[in-house]
Amino acid sequence: LNRGGTLHFEYDTRQFADIGGLDKLKRWLAQRKPAFAHTTQTAHLDTPKGVLLIGVQGCGKSLAARATAGILGIPLLRLDFAALYNKYHGETERNLRESLQTADVMAPCVLWIDEIEKGLAGSGGETGTTQRVLSSFLAWLADKQSRVFVVATANDISALPPELVRKGRFDEIFFVDLPDHEVRQTILAIHLKKREQPGAGIDLDAVAAATEGFSGAELEQIVVSALYAAHAQNSALTTPILLAEVAATRPLSVVMQEKLLA
Ligand code: ATP
Repeated sequence: LNRGGTLHFEYDTRQFADIGGLDKLKRWLAQRKPAFAHTTQTAHLDTPKGVLLIGVQGCGKSLAARATAGILGIPLLRLDFAALYNKYHGETERNLRESLQTADVMAPCVLWIDEIEKGLAGSGGETGTTQRVLSSFLAWLADKQSRVFVVATANDISALPPELVRKGRFDEIFFVDLPDHEVRQTILAIHLKKREQPGAGIDLDAVAAATEGFSGAELEQIVVSALYAAHAQNSALTTPILLAEVAATRPLSVVMQEKLLA
């Protein structure tokens, strides 16, 4: 969308129903939605600044960031923070300024900053620049009058500058964790439905019980692989086929645990 190639327009129609779990975030967003409708009845509502989603890989942070635009019914812009950096003096700050100005002009919109920690971990090689980028971004966020709703996502809380997580910067910080039994069942159902598998006769409770420690992305992968296996066997999808895929998969959380114990 801009000269520096740091701002991208994305199109996504996903809604709450496409996300398993993340109930606190969903409730919070549902309550804030009227602020983006901008009618006389909502004119007294402050425009929310944005949220920070921190947590485990593959558990739906990017999905939630994208679905936020669908939920609020506004366009989605993705800001590539790491791509802001430029070796020429002043160019990085200028890229940021231009990106934020464009977002302001396009408001109401969601501005999604993926892996914000990477963009703030000195990608410019020069800490001074990183610090200036952070200060400019925080100043913009604090003064923001436009209806730009920022969704920043991060995997690694320890890599985030303390200024960013301090109270009053974002409206809320949500932690995204591995799904529990019930949410795993929902995620499996979402991905079966997406592939037009009615799921009749499939024991999702048993599959959810066998997938402790699996992320949402890994559960989706189980569904995808099981459908290939069923197709190869000329069979409909069954619980044993799904369980066979589960047995053949070692989720990242288990691999990490084994590494820590080794
Ligand atoms: P990363 O840090 O690796 O980007 P992430 O937390 O942003 O991880 P996503 O990219 O959103 O995770 O997850 C990848 C895919 O896994 C999603 O597009 C979606 O299809 C599936 N998925 C993950 N979590 C969920 C969930 N909670 N509900 C439904 N699908 C999910």
